[in-house]
Amino acid sequence: MDVVIVGAGVIGLTIAWRSAARGLNVTIVDRHPASEASHVAAGMLAPVGELAYGEERLLRLGIDSRDRYPAFVAELEELTGHDTGYRDDGTVQVAFDTDDLAFLDDLRRFQETLGLPATALSGRECRRLEPMLAPSVRGGLLAERDGSIDPRRLTGALLSAVERSGVTLVRQNVTRVLVEGDRAVGVRTEAGEDLRADQIVLATGAWTHRLEGLPRDVVPVIRPVKGQVVRLRTRVPFLTRTTRGVVRGSSIYLVPRSDGEVVVGATQEEMGYDTTVTAGGLWELLRDARELIPGITELEFVEVSAGLRPGSPDNAPLLGPAALSGLSLATGHFRNGVLLTPVTGDVMAEALITGRLPDVARAFSPERFAEEISA
Ligand SMILES: Cc1cc2nc3c(=O)[nH]c(=O)nc-3n(C[C@H](O)[C@H](O)[C@H](O)COP(=O)(O)OP(=O)(O)OC[C@H]3O[C@@H](n4cnc5c(N)ncnc54)[C@H](O)[C@@H]3O)c2cc1C
Repeated sequence: MDVVIVGAGVIGLTIAWRSAARGLNVTIVDRHPASEASHVAAGMLAPVGELAYGEERLLRLGIDSRDRYPAFVAELEELTGHDTGYRDDGTVQVAFDTDDLAFLDDLRRFQETLGLPATALSGRECRRLEPMLAPSVRGGLLAERDGSIDPRRLTGALLSAVERSGVTLVRQNVTRVLVEGDRAVGVRTEAGEDLRADQIVLATGAWTHRLEGLPRDVVPVIRPVKGQVVRLRTRVPFLTRTTRGVVRGSSIYLVPRSDGEVVVGATQEEMGYDTTVTAGGLWELLRDARELIPGITELEFVEVSAGLRPGSPDNAPLLGPAALSGLSLATGHFRNGVLLTPVTGDVMAEALITGRLPDVARAFSPERFAEEISA
């Protein structure tokens, strides 16, 4: 079977690799592979920390995907020889005042009702784990099974994996989806070339609903949610695990990497497709991060960047066959696309081959928006 995947972020690249590994003939099309949200992401693999109450089904999908990570990374690193920067050393979430402590206590109980281990820590225990934490930290919660990965190393490895797996990479933008009768049959590139295939997959992140040629009731609006992050560098041991807290009502996190990089994130702004890095965004991130970890002001400044999280109407991904035959969607991963990469790759490859979405992803079928998008 021939498959054309549009979009080569973490999601499109992983679907390409997994599908080719299962014998499909895959072409992936993107003028700038791995340059958008996947290039900016911090790479936390934290199913609980990034979720809101009421998102239990998404939490289950996140846990499933996090649990696939060790085998996924082992296979990818063995195939390509690339180091992805994967770590499984947990997340510590800290509290500064009584309100924060009450929030963490609620979170711990919520996690326990879901059967997830979470360890409550005193302020002193938090600082024993992470000595750079501010002395004003009152307590915390340790999620031992959370992890992180370097998304730039991950996409580097995935690009190498698709190349080794016989996937054709076309460095072009797609200008329209080609539809004949009631079926998607291919895509047209900006060079005017038509790429025809049995199945078309849109993995185009925050740009998915903007593709021309799609009937109007097939893709809901995927809103771009801007996030700015700062990259710093340390030459001395600094943090041993992802550390997060709430400062002045906004959530702040620091993700350390084994090569000395420390990612500080992230703003959350609904500004359309604007990716301007602002002085205010940078200032707020550094100000809040300094409250959590005063020593960050000593670190080397490397970069500040902004990306667009693809947000679906219910903030959960759309996975699997769309309401137009021949077309599948893998978009709307919002704040969790890196976390959800392994499960997305596996369920999409399965759905392309069998026509059926595995149970774990059934609740995320695009069908759930059928009424909303045809209204
Ligand atoms: C600041 C920030 C921090 C984040 N932190 C985390 C985190 O810690 N953990 C986590 O799990 N997630 C995180 N995310 C979310 C994560 O980055 C996204 O959910 C994920 O990258 C989505 O991947 P994607 O491949 O769908 O989209 P993208 O990476 O945006 O890729 C979409 C691709 O489609 C291509 N494309 C679009 N239109 C066309 C077209 N017409 N023709 C051809 N190609 C096209 C683009 O060029 C792009 O390469 C973060 C995001 C941001 C912005």
